[in-house]
Amino acid sequence: MLKELKNSLLSIIYPQECRVCFSQVENAGDGISCIKCWSETRIFDGSEMLCDKCGAFFGDKAAPVAVFCHKCDDHFYDKAAAVGVYEKAMSATVLNLKEQPVLPKRLRELIPAAIERNGFGRADLIIPIPLSKQRRIERGFNQAEVIANEISHATDIHIDKASLSRKLHTPIHRVGMDKRARELTVQNAFEVLRPKLIAGKKILLVDDVFTSGATASYCAKALKKNGAVEVNIFTLARAVMN
Ligand SMILES: [Zn+2]
Ligand SMILES: [Zn+2]
Repeated sequence: MLKELKNSLLSIIYPQECRVCFSQVENAGDGISCIKCWSETRIFDGSEMLCDKCGAFFGDKAAPVAVFCHKCDDHFYDKAAAVGVYEKAMSATVLNLKEQPVLPKRLRELIPAAIERNGFGRADLIIPIPLSKQRRIERGFNQAEVIANEISHATDIHIDKASLSRKLHTPIHRVGMDKRARELTVQNAFEVLRPKLIAGKKILLVDDVFTSGATASYCAKALKKNGAVEVNIFTLARAVMN
């Protein structure tokens, strides 16, 4: 309550500039982007053509049958889905989430429908993709946990923040990072600390952005090796490779 009051007072004194187009943000619920930039950001609603496994974006019209990009054939998760494309207001918001552990109202409201549409509400456990201990200390929070908390709040599914751990301190992944380099850094980075809590469970892994899918795949691999029966991936944003 106090924090909200402080935020609204701050916005009067220091109006929020849109991180994309630098005009003024009209609506506090839109976070750090203006209405125009949000309206130009592609938010998925089920009418797009996406890879049925990894969620790769193929086009604006839905396919009559399931389509697959096949680049994800050897990924260990079952299905990945996102709220929208990593562009404009979405990419700015995802970047801001690494600095401030807050999700704008507009995004919070989009999450339940995306979870529902992809059948992710039947998970037994939500697991945010962990940061390494070192990065967690540097940042002060894990942005994936902020998203996971929101999903848990909307679905009543329990969050497990302790069973999956990131062993190595891997370099920050960037959207433009070479696929092979990215894969090498995450291959053996994850381990399951409490396998009894994972065995037999359907797990929803949560992260901020899905790029190559390597991180998600190696997390899923570790979880499945320890008995998880299904591992799906939910992210706010989906990078579109051209
Ligand atoms: Zn804008
Ligand atoms: Zn795919």
